[in-house]
Amino acid sequence: MSELFEHIRRTYGEAASAIEKGMCARPVTLRINTLKASAVEVTSAFDRGGFSYARVPWYADALIVYAPQEEIENTPLYREGYFYLQSLSSMIPPLALEPKAGESILDMTAAPGGKTCELYCLSGGKALITACERDRFRFERLKFNLQRQGATRVYAVCKDAATLDDFLKFDKILLDAPCTGSGTATEKSRFTEEYLQKCVRMQEKLLRKALRLLKKGGTLVYSTCSILKEENELLLARVLPKEATYEPLPPLAGVPLLLSAEGTLTVCPTELYEGFFVARIRL
Ligand code: SAM
Repeated sequence: MSELFEHIRRTYGEAASAIEKGMCARPVTLRINTLKASAVEVTSAFDRGGFSYARVPWYADALIVYAPQEEIENTPLYREGYFYLQSLSSMIPPLALEPKAGESILDMTAAPGGKTCELYCLSGGKALITACERDRFRFERLKFNLQRQGATRVYAVCKDAATLDDFLKFDKILLDAPCTGSGTATEKSRFTEEYLQKCVRMQEKLLRKALRLLKKGGTLVYSTCSILKEENELLLARVLPKEATYEPLPPLAGVPLLLSAEGTLTVCPTELYEGFFVARIRL
């Protein structure tokens, strides 16, 4: 942890203590699967079951639930896929991509699939989504979640996204890149400068690939659960072509933010939010 905090202190200066405080346990949060249930159905069931919960100002389909995760996972609603347990910050990238019916969308690094399911939901089940995942074990988890959430029309492929055929072209791409996880770090997290460099190399490879797979005029959302600039703004500044532009994200009421390059968003870790980075790029 200390090597990570030294790095965070060098980057964020005074804000580092607030970041350190935010590296803590968080309540359970979930996203309602609007293909199977409405917010009213889920909240009514929680009222009956005696679960207390709170709404999220920027997302009508999100809830904060004040109950142990095991109890929530034991509800029939959970088992039926009426909602998906997902951190609040991780709900932002799919919202930023604004998936629409008929659009071809690539979720490049998709497992376990929370964001794929959210993209599917947001498009009313009508976007043409390809979900790619390299790790065989995590791919099985992705398929399980897609099935439970009823995201039946997603094409899931177990493959290194860097080897996808350049002939393929997508209207929109989500690259929720593998990263150091510095935004979700706990005291047990292992971080080294060497590991950071390894992640950056992987991110660069995937980002260059995403740019080749995106249609001219298409939208790319790049996100990580890291607050380290090397994995985020600095990488984008180095790799994006001159013609790429940042499309600022709409304001998200109550989301705690860190200083971030213009047009990008870095969520500060708090007792409610994981640290996260999101950028929406138009090619
Ligand atoms: N988007 C996922 C979600 O919301 O559930 C989380 C993705 S996680 C941050 C990154 C994922 O990328 C991991 O499952 C990892 O196995 C996968 N991955 C790493 N390198 C990859 C590659 N070259 N091609 C495809 N998937 C890759």
